[in-house]
This record gives sequence, structure tokens and C-alpha cells, in this order.
Amino acid sequence: MVSRVIPVDPFDLVIFGGTGDLARRKILPALYRRFCDEQMPREARIIGAARTEQSPQEYRDWVAEALKEFAPRSAADPDGMAGFLDRVDYLPVDAKGEGGWSDLKSKMRDDVVQAFYFSVAPALFGDLAERLHHHGIAHEGARIVVEKPFGRDLGTARSLNATLAEHFDESQIYRIDHYLGKETVQNLMAVRFGNVLFEPLWNAQYVDHVQITVAESVGVGGRGSYYDKSGAMRDMVQNHLMQLLCLTAMEPPSRFEPDAVRDEKLKVIRALQSPPLKDIVRGQYKAGDNPSYLDDVEEPDSRTESFIAMKLHIANWRWNGTPFYLRTGKRLKTRKSEIVVHFKEPPHSIFDEDAGSRPNILSIRLQPDEGIDLSVTIKEPGPGGMRLIDVPLDMSFADALGPEAADVPDAYERLIMDVIRGNQTLFMRGDEVEAAWAWTDPLIEAWTERGDRPVPYEPGSAGPEDSAILMHRDSRRWREVG
Ligand code: NAD
Repeated sequence: MVSRVIPVDPFDLVIFGGTGDLARRKILPALYRRFCDEQMPREARIIGAARTEQSPQEYRDWVAEALKEFAPRSAADPDGMAGFLDRVDYLPVDAKGEGGWSDLKSKMRDDVVQAFYFSVAPALFGDLAERLHHHGIAHEGARIVVEKPFGRDLGTARSLNATLAEHFDESQIYRIDHYLGKETVQNLMAVRFGNVLFEPLWNAQYVDHVQITVAESVGVGGRGSYYDKSGAMRDMVQNHLMQLLCLTAMEPPSRFEPDAVRDEKLKVIRALQSPPLKDIVRGQYKAGDNPSYLDDVEEPDSRTESFIAMKLHIANWRWNGTPFYLRTGKRLKTRKSEIVVHFKEPPHSIFDEDAGSRPNILSIRLQPDEGIDLSVTIKEPGPGGMRLIDVPLDMSFADALGPEAADVPDAYERLIMDVIRGNQTLFMRGDEVEAAWAWTDPLIEAWTERGDRPVPYEPGSAGPEDSAILMHRDSRRWREVG
């Protein structure tokens, strides 16, 4: 495979929260890998900005340690590491005070792309936008990158959008959902819109149902008190699963361009029906080798869910009658994210009943082992008459495209380079986020008003029994989690 790395324009990227966990684990390693791949030009500069008082050299030492841990293969090259660190600078800046801002202004260059990554608590997003504007730091074409969570309901999302809009145009705001940067998610669009094979079948006439699963094997760990204020619906469904649903269900955009794609996603959210509560299952993991959810969050009476499964309908011509089943949870059997499209059986079987029949299944794996496979029905080889079996046409990147493809870039690599390139296609627009909250809020209100308690489930399982029952009711089954 020919690697086609197109260098981006020179840039100044300021990481507010440059000493935080996200910067250490994701943002800096992603930038480093892009540097090693020669996508970052020599004139690029990364400026860490956070509250900690430290010198640029102390910050570089810390960055070097982070890279050794989170980009070990690339960090093994001492020249690469030194070259990268040369481009790293640091400045103590207080989002809530005046400290550091005039120094930051004097560091910024006017003739390069400017990007400001808000990798801090959401409560500081407004302060940062306001101070960048007030100090005249960001030039007209500057971009801001905003991390999740984007609000905790429609009201907070609206007010955050309004605050950012006071200082930045929508075309400058990059709301990150890192799921959109995953290679397979982009491949979903390539498979759908780059082949004649799938799109004619991509509708209620041929698709029986769709399953979207984001399973995590870890619990809420040290984030217990934060997570308990949110829960699986706010933390995962409103953003990541909703985005996956949109990309799976949307109409073909006229072009692969930011607003064309985002307009189509928005139409899906608007067509998404509000499910009755009987079609939603919420759960909390029990204790096993690790503490239970309630112990993790230290709230014995918490009614926040660590698992949710739901059956959804999209009210439009394409999808009328085809349910979309979503589920996500913590402390499940394994870590796995996938979109699975179950096609209908052929309308008439020409084979004997005992030949069996197997519908085609297209599965798009986001993690681990990104790839796509399609199960097709063939005859079982050998004697014994016509017996049908399904075999996978495996499009695992690693197998199909060689060892280079096994090194699938992290979502943050793609997304940060898109920010520098000024391409918003894989970022959420303000109205999309608000529409997603407008759909989410009444559901949370409904179960809160009813006083529903999540049902307990075994750690290491596929979630509560009720989730399996949700499918059995429709004579369907979830795909195995592990
Ligand atoms: P963190 O607590 O590890 O780091 C916070 C950073 O903000 C630190 O660098 C700190 O110095 C800086 N900071 C705090 N107050 C400040 C102030 N007044 N002025 C300037 N800087 C200040 O947080 P994190 O885990 O890195 O998360 C950052 C953001 O990314 C949050 O919005 C979080 O929700 C989001 N996020 C994090 C992850 C993750 O895996 N850590 C994943 C998705 C989204």
C-alpha cells in the first residue's frame, strides 16, 4: 500500500489543559505520530498551556515521558523525539484569571494556522473563548477544538453554543467526537457510498435490523462521582452511539463535505422517534472481583445507569419498520464496538428446509481489530447434499491491506490534522448536538419521573437479562459481546 501523507500547513496549536490526562494519553501522542509520519511541517509549534507553573524544558521532559508510555514505537527513535520536542513550548495560563494571556498573545504567529484545543473541564470552555477574544489572541481564521461532554442537557448545550458563538463563528468551532475519527467509521461511508453493492439494499426492504454495540470491560473506576452525574445515556448514547446511528442511517450526502454530511446526520436525529420506556433497559453492574457500580460511585441509592439498551425507530421512508438496537455498558464481557447490519432472508428459498438458511450480516468493527466483514451463504463443501453455511468475507485491515494497515492511525491523529486542514466533516455541528440532546432529555426525564431503578447485572456478562429479553420479544438476538 502506498502511504500518501500530505503535509499540513504550518500551525500554532495551543493545548489548554496541556498537562492533563487527555493531552498525555491522546493529543500529544497523536501529534507525535503525525510528526514521525512527516505530516507536521517543520514550522509547526505546539504550545502546552495549563495552570502548572513550570518551564518549557520541564514540560518537554514530561511530554517525553508521556510519549514513551503512549507512543512507544515512535518514541524509540531518539532523533524523531528530539525533533518533535523542539517544536513543543509551554506557558502557564489561567483560564479564570489574567495570568499568562499577554505572553500567549506575544507567542502566537499571525501568518500560520492557529488552533486552540480546549482540553479542560467544560466549565472553562466559556472562559477560554472569552479570554482568547478579549486579549485579541485568535485571528479570524483561528479554530477552537472543544472536547466532550458538550453540555449535559439541551439547556446547557444551548448556552455553551451561545457562549462560543459570541466569540467564534460556527466554521471555527470543532466539536470532537473521537468515534468519528476512527478509520472504520470513515470506512463505513466508503463502503456505503463507494460501492454499488450495498446502497440499493440499505433500507427497510432488505435490512431486518441494525445493532450498534459499544461495550467496555472496565468499570467507572476513579471517575465514579463524575460518571454518576451522567450515566450511559448522557456519556455514550447522546454522542458516540448517536453519531454511529446517524452515519449508518443517513441518506447519501450530495458530496463528502462538512455541511452536506452534517445536514444528512441531522435529518436522522430529527426523524428518530422517542422510544416507549418498555423499549429501554437500564442496568448497574454488580460486585464481582471488583466493587459494584454503587460502591464505585459511593452512592448506595444511585439510579444512574452503567448499561443501557434500547430499540429505536427512524420515522422516514428508508427505515420504516427496521429497528435499530443500541446498547452500551461498562464492566461487560469484553471491550468491543461494532455496528452490525442484519439483512433479511431471501424472499423465497429454493433449497430444502434442512439446508438451513442464513441471512447476510455486515459487521463493522470499530474496536478492537478495526475492520469490516460480511457473512455470505455458501454450500458446505463435500458430500452430504446441499447444506448451507455462512462464511465471512473478512475485510480486516491488517489481513487485507498488509502490515502498514495494521497500524491504523488513532482517531485523534486524523481529527487534529483535520482541524489544521480546516475540514469540519468529522466534527459535530452545534445544531446536531442540540438535536441529540432534544431527543435525549425527555427520555431521561421520563425514567427519572417514574423513579425507575436500573436492574443489576453480572460483571463480565453481556448486561442485564432484560436486555436479552428486549431482543427475544422480537425473535432476535444480540450478537455475542465477547
Ligand atoms: P485533567 O483533569 O486530567 O486535566 C485538566 C487540565 O486542565 C490540566 O492540564 C489543568 O492544569 C488544566 N486546568 C484546570 N484548571 C485550569 C485553569 N483555571 N486554567 C488553565 N488550565 C486549567 O482532565 P482531562 O482528563 O485531560 O480532560 C480534559 C477534557 O477532555 C475534559 O473536558 C474531559 O471531559 C475531556 N475528555 C477527556 C478524556 C480522557 O480520556 N481523559 C476523554 C474524553 C474527553
